[in-house]
Parts: sequence; C-alpha cells; structure tokens
Amino acid sequence: MLNLTSLAAEISPITRRLSAKLKKIKIEIVENLIFYYPFRYDDFSSVKKIADLNGGEIVTIKGRVDLIENRRSSLQRKNITQAIVSDETGSLNAIWFNQPYVAKNIKAGEDIYLVGKIDLDYDNPQMKNPKYEKINYSNIAGRLAPVYHLTAGITNKQIRFMVKLSLPVIKNIKDWLPAEIQNRIKLIPLNTALSNIHFPQDKNALSQATHRLKFDELFLLQMKNLIAKNRLKKNRSEIINFKEDETKQFVSDLPFKLTDDQKKSVWTILKDLQKPHPMNRLLEGDVGCGKTVVATIIMLNVALNNKQSVYMAPTEILAKQHFISISKLLEKFNIKVGLITRSEKKINQKLKVKNRKIKAADIIQNSDIIIGTHALIQNKIKFKNLALAIIDEQHRFGVDQRKSLTEKSGNKKTMSHFLSMTATPIPRTLHLAVDGDLDLSIIKEMPKDRKNILTKIVGAEKRKKAYEFIEKQIEEGRQIFVICPLIDPSDKLGVKSVSEEYEKLNNKIFPDIKIEILHGKLKSEAKENIMQNFIKNKTKILVATSVVEVGVDIPNATIMMIEGAERFGLAQLHQFRGRVGRSEFQSYCFLFSDNLTDKASDRLEALVDCNDGFELARRDLEFRGAGDIYGQEQSGLSKLKIATLFDYELMQKARSEATQLLTTDPELEKFPELKNRME
Ligand code: ADP
Ligand code: MG
Repeated sequence: MLNLTSLAAEISPITRRLSAKLKKIKIEIVENLIFYYPFRYDDFSSVKKIADLNGGEIVTIKGRVDLIENRRSSLQRKNITQAIVSDETGSLNAIWFNQPYVAKNIKAGEDIYLVGKIDLDYDNPQMKNPKYEKINYSNIAGRLAPVYHLTAGITNKQIRFMVKLSLPVIKNIKDWLPAEIQNRIKLIPLNTALSNIHFPQDKNALSQATHRLKFDELFLLQMKNLIAKNRLKKNRSEIINFKEDETKQFVSDLPFKLTDDQKKSVWTILKDLQKPHPMNRLLEGDVGCGKTVVATIIMLNVALNNKQSVYMAPTEILAKQHFISISKLLEKFNIKVGLITRSEKKINQKLKVKNRKIKAADIIQNSDIIIGTHALIQNKIKFKNLALAIIDEQHRFGVDQRKSLTEKSGNKKTMSHFLSMTATPIPRTLHLAVDGDLDLSIIKEMPKDRKNILTKIVGAEKRKKAYEFIEKQIEEGRQIFVICPLIDPSDKLGVKSVSEEYEKLNNKIFPDIKIEILHGKLKSEAKENIMQNFIKNKTKILVATSVVEVGVDIPNATIMMIEGAERFGLAQLHQFRGRVGRSEFQSYCFLFSDNLTDKASDRLEALVDCNDGFELARRDLEFRGAGDIYGQEQSGLSKLKIATLFDYELMQKARSEATQLLTTDPELEKFPELKNRME
C-alpha cells in the first residue's frame, strides 16, 4: 500500500528507474510528489465536435476508434500508424509517424481523446502525431492538464502518471487546519484541494484549490514567524534605561533637526530596550533618510548603561565610514568606539603585533561600541557584555550571519537586543511574509533639505553631451561616480566592465582628470586608499562596481552615472542614486544604456519619474519578481511555492488567524495535526 512516506519512484514498476532524476527536483517520497504543484495548466478542457473543427487550431476531440493499422511508407521507409476516429458528427484521420506501438496501445472500438492541431486539407480532417488518451484514464485531454517544472529525463506525462497513482494517498491525508478557520476563510478540505491542484475538474475547482493551498502556505509561515517571536520573548536580555539628559544633549548638538519619523523610531526602540526580553526589530527607511543617527542614539544609551553595542556593516568601506561618522557624532561623550575588519587585522600583522587575535580582543574589551564587518562573527571574537547587535543593510547578510551576531552576547544568561536596518523598502504586508518575526519601524519622511535628483536615461547619441556636462561639474569642484555591471570585460556582448570603462575615460575622454577604479576584488588596503582619495576629493571620478551600492556617503559627489543600467533592478538603481544628492548642490543620475529594449526602457522610466523607494520596489516586483529585491535565499519568499507577494489580503488573514490561534492555544494542544505539520 502506498502512503506518504513511500518512495516516489516505487509508485509503479515502470517509474522505478526515475529515482535519481526525481531526486533532482526534490521528489523522494510520495509526500514530496503530492506537494509538487503544477506551475501552470494547459487548457484542453473544451472538447470539440468533429464537424465544428477549424484548420490550424489545437483542439481536443473525443471519439471512437473505427480502425487503426500500421503500414510502411514505401518512399521514406517510415512506419505510419493510421486511425479513423469518429464522433456523432463526423470522422477524422489520425496519423503517427514511427510510433508503431500506438496501434498496440489503442484498439478499434475504444473511446479516446485526441489532442492536436487540425489540418483540413484532406477529405477528413487530419491530426498528425496527436496526443491520445483513453477516456477513462485521461490526465490531460478534456481537462485542465497540469504542467510541472521538470528536469532532463523526466516528462510531464510521467509526473502526471505518478500523481494519478498517488490520489488514493491524498484522499487519506488528514486536514491540519482547524475547522473553525476553514469555515471563516471559506476553504475547501485539504485532500480535495490537493487532488484538484493536480487534476482540477474545471477552473472553479482549481481556483478553490489554489485558494486553500495558498492560505495553508501563508498560515504555516505566519505560525512559524509568531512562534519564533514568542520563543524570543522567553529569553532574557539586558534592560537599557533611557538616559534622557544625554540623549537630549546629543540631539540638540546635531547640525540638523531629527525628522518626526526618526524621533518615533528612536522612541520605539528605546521602549523595546527597557523590556527584559530581547528586541527583534527591523528599521526600514529609504536611502539617506538618516538611519545611522537613529542607531547612534540607541548605542549611546546602551553605552551609558555600561553595556556594549556591536554594529555590523556589509563592506569594509562602509564599516570604516560608519566608524568615522559615529565616532564624530559621539565626540563629546566619553564613549569608546572600536573598529574590527579583516584589513585592520592585516595592518596589525604588518606592524608585527605578535598575536593579532589579542589586538582584536583588546579592541573589543575596551570599546563601548564596536563597528565592523563579517570579521565580527568569526568564532574567536567574544564580547564583554554585549547588549545590542545592529546589522546595517541587513539584506546583504544571510540569515545565519545575522543569527551568529546575536548569539555573541558574552553572557550566557542574556541574549542581545537585535536591530536590523535596511533601505530595501518593503510594504508592511510584504514584511509579514519576509520577516514576520521582526517588529517593524519605518522612516518614511526624508530630511527637509533634500533636493530632488534629476534622473535621465541617456542613449548612445547623447553620450558626448553627458561627458561635457560631467567635465563642467568637475570644473566646479564636484565629483562623479561611474558604475558598471562587471569588473573585467566578458564575452557577453555589450556589458560594460569597470576596467574597460576606466581605460576609456582615463585615456580618451578625460585624460587630465584623476580617475580611480574600485571593485570587490581589490585588496582591502587598496580599496581603503582609493576610498580615502575620493573622500578627500583628490580623485574626481570613481569608476566602481556595485560595491558602492549601499551606504557610502560622499556629499560632494553630484553625478551618479550608471553604465548598462538595464542590467540592474530598480531598487538597486535607486540605491545607487542615493549615493548623490547628499549636499546643497543639485545632483544628477544618468542611466546609460546602449541596448535599450522597450521593456527595459519602461522599467528605467519608472526611475525617472519616481523617487519613492517603496513605490519603486513595488514596480520592480512587477517587472522582475521578488528574487531581485530581496535576494532569494535570504527571505522566506523563496519557500513560497504557490502563494505570491501579491496575495496581500490572504497574507493578512493568515497572520490574524495565526495570531488568534496562538493566543488561545500557544502549545497547539488541541491541534496535534497542525503541531505535527509545524514540526
Ligand atoms: P541611511 O538611512 O541611508 O543610512 P544616513 O544615516 O547615511 O542614511 O544619512 C544620510 C545623511 O543624512 C547623513 O549625512 C546624515 O548626517 C544626514 N541626516 C540624517 N538625519 C538628518 C536630518 N534629520 N536632517 C538632515 N540631515 C540628516
Ligand atoms: Mg545607511
């Protein structure tokens, strides 16, 4: 007897040899197969009468085989199988070439479906090499035929065949969703949904099945998020008291006024830190909205409570920059800020510091605030009394990296508070799907003095003019970023690389201007020097890859020129653009594209007329899907098989049902099936 844990390949003797291939698409047991949903359906549901057929159309007909036989074509030495099939309105010729076994599979007198293209050039309508199925065993003809993602060596026909044989197992699957929820959301039973997602009787049945399975997916995801959230509440963390006087002093010393959203975020976070349970919060705000200063106020409070904070950034450039700006912001306070990156260690090595570990350890022991890169999550690093971990540009880190930072509190009894920051704008509902275990603070408001950045798409014919304009800006003292998609020239036609572009600009276009090149493969020290030259306005043009995408703050740069702009996502381009427009000077973003398709052009236009990161992220979702925005592996999204980011409403229903259920029955004692499923 087949059951959920039977090996999928053992479903039938003739599928046994498929086991390695099935494994490739992660189907090992029957359960995997059942939850391997089709990604689309071919609609063969409308069955036509033979008398109504039109030439050229692909149709399904249903009829009885009057005659079927093999013969050899004398000319081409092919086997030809010919059949005459009729319904009550007429007859049709079906012809198969070199498939003599067809005459064994279907016999005269049998009722069958034929699916194929109609040719009317003969006495009878004709179909060449049609798909055929017996009426009582049809998987595709006369219905919506499931189409699955495949791998080499496996066909849809085989998967359909195996699913068909697994239908009895589906029938016995126990529903894990509480009946009350099913009623409220108007969901069909799980087993009906599962059989109909593979073999729906009609479109209505399919849409009900989809609805149910989407809900299940979102509901389980939300349950997981909420359980993680509740679990966290059971942990203890340091209580950080609000240091009102110092905070007020810090804020009044700032050269600008905090926006209301900044204040609100600070307030919410400080409230979280006063609780004895770890905060787990995401601070989200568009590029340049001022998240660093929010983080600094929080870290100031932690330091004044005699506890440590750690601040992790995705690149050395950024870590260094934060180190400088945060040190400066806290200048008036007696607070020690330390920097830990890989190259800091290398520098130490050169100075013949005997044991470089000691140096890092010293920094950590002696600092209130430790800023750094991935180097911070290496095993050897231990904090003294870490109370707060901040991750900047969190989408650049994997889930495991985030986790390992928070696990380093240095004190077994407490867990550090966790603040994650991102400029990737995710609307609230989507946030539920991606990071539903995190609380959310959003900074929507931008500092008042921000100028609009003029954005232009520049075609090949205007390139010269753009260069003239750039030259003028440099004469006025400003600086330029040039972004290219690649480091080195590749075979891929037309994709610009930084090395080529650098050669061109340096030798031909701007021979008298100091230009440097920056990319991820350079040595840390080289990167550091190049960055310093740019910060000090020694270099006028920086030709870079996406290493400068996030966070870099060079107020004197006013032009962001992006080569091969069509190759980047909108959210990413918006990030690049955020590197300029950080001073009183008018700033510009030039999107260069030498092979602009209509679709790419539409996408880039969005950037020209929209400056709102949230709106751009939404449009990018529509244009390119979620992976580009969030990074596939890092988000819960990659796990969604059937629901999508656009199922806002269902997502919210799932969230609220999950919340309600966990409030009344946190251990799921009344719902063992669900508990089982969660595990
Ligand atoms: P992001 O949120 O992208 O990390 P930053 O924290 O780097 O942004 O801030 C961008 C710039 O804006 C910095 O130079 C910062 O000093 C400045 N800034 C932050 N808050 C304000 C404000 N309320 N008014 C004016 N400028 C601000
Ligand atoms: Mg930032």
